[in-house]
Amino acid sequence: MSRDEMRALQGKRLRETVERVYANTPFYRKKMQEMGIMPEDIQTVDDIVKLPFTVKTDLRDQYPFGLFASPMSEIVRMHASSGTTGKPVVAGYTRKDLGIWSEVLARTFSAGGCDSRDIFHIAFGYGLFTGGLGAHSGAERIGASVIPISSGNTEKQIQLMTDFGSTVLCCTPSYALYLAESIHKKGLQDKLKLRVGFFGAEPWTEEMRHEIEEKLRLKAFDIYGLTEIIGPGVSYNCSCQNGMHINEDHFLPEIVDPETLQPVAPGQVGELVFTTITKEGMPLLRYRTKDLTRLVYEPCECGRTNVRMEKIMGRSDDMLIIRGVNVFPTQIESVLLEFAEAAPHYHLYVDRVNNTDTFEVHVEMRPEFFSDNMSRMLDLKKRISARIQSVLGISAEVKLVEPNSIPRSEGKARRVTDKRNVYANK
Ligand code: AMP
Ligand code: ZN
Repeated sequence: MSRDEMRALQGKRLRETVERVYANTPFYRKKMQEMGIMPEDIQTVDDIVKLPFTVKTDLRDQYPFGLFASPMSEIVRMHASSGTTGKPVVAGYTRKDLGIWSEVLARTFSAGGCDSRDIFHIAFGYGLFTGGLGAHSGAERIGASVIPISSGNTEKQIQLMTDFGSTVLCCTPSYALYLAESIHKKGLQDKLKLRVGFFGAEPWTEEMRHEIEEKLRLKAFDIYGLTEIIGPGVSYNCSCQNGMHINEDHFLPEIVDPETLQPVAPGQVGELVFTTITKEGMPLLRYRTKDLTRLVYEPCECGRTNVRMEKIMGRSDDMLIIRGVNVFPTQIESVLLEFAEAAPHYHLYVDRVNNTDTFEVHVEMRPEFFSDNMSRMLDLKKRISARIQSVLGISAEVKLVEPNSIPRSEGKARRVTDKRNVYANK
């Protein structure tokens, strides 16, 4: 589809969505009325800037069903994302929404070279979290054989994966690493038939991708999404593994400056915003994801014409401000994985002592490099600190910790402990 054809389709679907929410969602009708906008003011994709933004607190304020645009009799599924504080964010799906969801995931898996001959090991959590059931429906849609193992019980995961000959693994990148490590400990790597992995639900770096690909001997694809928009499958890597193609016939992306909320210049980094343009159950207008990335409109070598988003740098609310410097955990991850001695397991501790921010980076050593040779360890610490200083412009106290001492994650990893007052860094 050409860009012009895509924009025409998006414009038509945007109009339909705006009419739908104006008619069915009092929350949006009121917002639009307050702004003096009528549905007919929205004719093309360019008119999107006239529409109100939606933020996570709107979903919490409308808890549980205030943003649903379909009667409950048409809602066939609900999911929720808990976050760390407050009420969960709820999403409702009609039968048509579930069909679209499985379709965008089927695209994701096909783009990764998977088909009905594959055996999908789905180790995303099943339940209210969208990862498990989302990936499940896409894998069934391409006719693959699906193992709905869900998360946890790593021993069992490895047993079934080797016995059943799973060819595809779906989970968070941090859990993929944990599984890889456990498989290596058991010496079972030669028993694996995995060839492809779809990993997402949390930020991860290119360095982490290489690590996972090498350890599990598969090709690792990034898969992005969020509960509010649909779940996983909003965007996906093609075989070029260079940015994620957005399913923009369903989810219309924008990048805005998180401070001014104005669109950024093409190609600039900013906050990713989505408008769902085909959803019935819970359509959202200009939802601010807090995820930071940029859009790439240049054609992709794979031939797909839909726009790409770069790997997520981090969430604006994950960004630490340490002594005035903005730091994303993914930047630290990139630096650490430059060092052969460092395992891809780390934890960041931030605190404030005597009005000064303290910043400790705990990094786990790879067993083969861990030693009680103090001068060698000291030298490594210095080299890592110097690299953090030169890449991020901030000094950090590096602590090298023993192999296996940093807790492993079965779902989304928690890599930061910030003990400062909340107002100090938000
Ligand atoms: P949830 O709705 O609880 O699944 O969380 C969605 C959030 O997870 C997104 O807004 C992102 O911050 C993060 N996320 C999901 N997929 C990815 C990915 N592939 N890369 C980076 N972050 C991701
Ligand atoms: Zn591509």
